[in-house]
This record gives sequence, structure tokens and C-alpha cells, in this order.
Amino acid sequence: NRVFQGTEKTRERLGVVDELLAYWNLDDSEDTLEELEDALIASDFGPGAALALVEGLREKIRLGEIKDQGSLKQELKKSMVGILESAAVNSGSGELAVSDSGLSIILVVGVNGGGKTTTVGKLSSRFAKEGYTVTLAAGDTFRAAAKEQLEVWAERTGARVAEYPEDMEKPDPVKVLAHAAELGLRDERDSDILICDTSGRIHNNFKLMDEIERCKKVLSDAKQGAPSETLLVLDSTTGLNMLNQAREFNDYIGITGLVLTKLDGTARGGAVVGVVQELGIPIKFIGVGEKVEDLQPFDAEAFVDGILS
Ligand code: GDP
Repeated sequence: NRVFQGTEKTRERLGVVDELLAYWNLDDSEDTLEELEDALIASDFGPGAALALVEGLREKIRLGEIKDQGSLKQELKKSMVGILESAAVNSGSGELAVSDSGLSIILVVGVNGGGKTTTVGKLSSRFAKEGYTVTLAAGDTFRAAAKEQLEVWAERTGARVAEYPEDMEKPDPVKVLAHAAELGLRDERDSDILICDTSGRIHNNFKLMDEIERCKKVLSDAKQGAPSETLLVLDSTTGLNMLNQAREFNDYIGITGLVLTKLDGTARGGAVVGVVQELGIPIKFIGVGEKVEDLQPFDAEAFVDGILS
């Protein structure tokens, strides 16, 4: 079946929501709905999504569309799917934009430790399995071992890592990406997709955003319309704290899709719904482990079935 593996902790956490749904009856519906709203907020859905979900139920109860506990739960799950899918409808489906001919360039951003480099590795494996030739650009020049980490992934997945430019005197992500894009575009038969890793240090946010903005610009200067995707990697164990990061990155450079990592290690998976409700940016992939196959294309229905029995 399509139920997600890796959302067990969130499912356990949402046992309290399950219990409330099982208490519900038409006669004292309102008390349970209020408790349900609180439980959703406490489970990291956030006030906006919790309110929207409960309001939706209230309206359907009023219209007589919900009469029993079974239909209450089905409607709640349907509303969650509705929120998760609304962003995809607005801005393209779950698949990544890859052009039929020429080099496709994908930019991957996010703060340190969120799982960016791992995601770049997992993406390269997915693309390789689909028959694409992949080059990785090691734009995280700030972290000492980031290039080596990418080389390990590249070796595992049949990709390669673009060499640094010879004239680079000190680590410079903008130069690394410019050089990788230039090489990739010069001989297009060489690779189909260039995935660009970036630095995510946070001790100086303005500098980071400025640098990432320049990274993006250098790619669009190299090829019109590039990058075809700008993916933001967010650590889902931080719950709704993901929102602040996402807003900032989106304001600076525009994000086309989210990758939410480490869902396997958190009970805060409800935040996935809250983030999409607040931002309206589609989730493209979900990370549910450290292995190469632990990156799943996001499927709203399967996800909701995974968190709520
Ligand atoms: P970066 O600093 O953003 O590039 O982060 P890394 O890719 O180096 O990842 C930081 C840590 O998170 C590493 O130990 C990864 O193995 C781990 N990690 C990344 N994605 C996932 C995931 O989906 N699930 C789990 N459990 N761990 C992950």
C-alpha cells in the first residue's frame, strides 16, 4: 500500500486526536471540536491549520454531512489532504522540473544540519535510477568535509562532483557553482542534471542570504530560466520553526519546492500540514531516514494515511 514508512512517531503522537474523534457524538459536538483544535495545535499543526481543519468539520456537521465518528475522521483526513494538495495545484506537481533537452540545473538551499547534502545525494540516486547522468556541485565550501561527503554519495550513485575552478584562491560557493554550470553547459552530453549544494551556516543570516542570492543569480546568468527548481531543505524535527526559515529563504530567492527531512525521527510531522497551509509552497519530497532510498516523493494522501490511522 501507499502508506508512508517513517511517520510512526507522528502517528503515535496523533493517538490523542484519534481518541478525541472516538469520543465525538452529535449531541455535544462542540466540546470535542474545541478539544480537537487544541490537540492539533499541540501536535504541531499550528493555529492556522488547526482552525481551518476544525472550522471545516464544524461546517460539515452543520450541513448534516457528518453524522458519525467514521465520517468525522474521513472528513478530517480529506481536509488535511486538501491543504497539502492546494499548494501543488497552485505551483506544479510533485515531480521536479527537468528539461527534455540540455542541462537542467537544480539549486538546493537550507540551514546547516538540516539534511541538505544528504538530500542532494539521495536526489542524485533517484535521477540516476531514472537514467539521467548527474553532476553535483559542491557549493558548501564553508563546511570542511562537504565536498568529500558529496564525493561519497556520487560514488555510490554513479554521479560525479564538478571540480573546483583552478583560479579559486579562497573557498567561494558562487565561483564553484558558476564553474560547474559553465562546464555542464559547454558539453551538454556530459550530464543531464546539475544539482547544486550550497552553504547553510547561520551565524550571519544576512551574509548567508546574500551569498545564496548570488548563487542563484550566477546560475540564471549561465542559463536562462535556471535553476529550474530551487529546493529548500527543512528539518521537520524543528516543528513549526520551519516556517521562519522558509519565509526568509522564500522572500530572498523564491522557493519552488520543499524537502522535509528527518520525519522518521520526530513526532512533529503535523507541522508538515501547518507549513503548507501557511506558505503555499508544495512539498516535493520527504526524508524518512539516512539511506539513499529514504527520500520519498510527496504523496498527500499516503502521508495523511501514514500519520492518522
Ligand atoms: P546539511 O548540513 O544540511 O548538509 O546536513 P547533512 O546532509 O550533512 O545531514 C545532517 C545529518 O542529518 C546527517 O547525519 C544525516 O545523515 C541526517 N539526515 C539527513 N536526512 C535525514 C532523514 O531524512 N532522516 C534521518 N533520520 N536523518 C537524516
